[in-house]
Amino acid sequence: MGDTWQRRIDRAAHLAEQDEAARPLLLMYGRLLGIQRDCDETLRRHADRLTGSLDRDLPAVRPCVARMLRALASIAPSRFAEEARRILEGADPAIDAMLLSGWHGPSGRQFVPKIALQPYAQCLAATGVRPIDRDIPRGKYTCPFCGGAPQLSILASAGTADGGGRQLLCATCFTVWPFGRVLCAHCGEEDEHRLCYFHSPSFDHLRVDACDSCRHYLKTVDLTRLGIAVPVVDEVAGGALDLWALEHDYQKIELNLIGL
Ligand SMILES: [Zn+2]
Ligand SMILES: [Zn+2]
Repeated sequence: MGDTWQRRIDRAAHLAEQDEAARPLLLMYGRLLGIQRDCDETLRRHADRLTGSLDRDLPAVRPCVARMLRALASIAPSRFAEEARRILEGADPAIDAMLLSGWHGPSGRQFVPKIALQPYAQCLAATGVRPIDRDIPRGKYTCPFCGGAPQLSILASAGTADGGGRQLLCATCFTVWPFGRVLCAHCGEEDEHRLCYFHSPSFDHLRVDACDSCRHYLKTVDLTRLGIAVPVVDEVAGGALDLWALEHDYQKIELNLIGL
């Protein structure tokens, strides 16, 4: 789908111009994406050294992440900045510990490890170097490449490069994989009476897909309604829909980088 870091950055800037309410979050997200792009560019220069074992890849990943943490410490809002500074004070051992714990025991609320690991995971996915030591519990609907949880789902028209239909997008490595149209991405509920959708006219191409069996949800980006959307960015821009879901006691399968 040609979803590059630069395309995400440009889309965040464009949406920030258009949407005053979401602007602060989108500007913030755009800065995070810029930091991740720089990390990815450095990693790609050493891509032939990556093995898929984070323990063995640390010498290549650590310097990129150290630069990323210095950038986060200077421009991010305080919650990222403080955590980034604290890790930097612990030098290489603290950076390694942060990366390894985020890789082997991902937690939806640990945002700095997520920010740091996405470029590594995307680099592995892009170069086809499969993660070999990520023994996390794999759910039925986790990423077939890295085992991560889905960030969102995508509706694409039939006949596109991705084959159309509904897909899930991994929150860690950005791999997309086919998924049923009427199916909960958390528990597998298939009863359409237990699955509900919430749509707001303000976001014509977005909707909340929620499940009344497990009370989880994710957002769907409908590319058949807006082909220029960049799913991970438009998902962030639709934060108002997350507030609706929270008010109705649904829990998101995987929070995005800005915590919604
Ligand atoms: Zn993945
Ligand atoms: Zn469910």
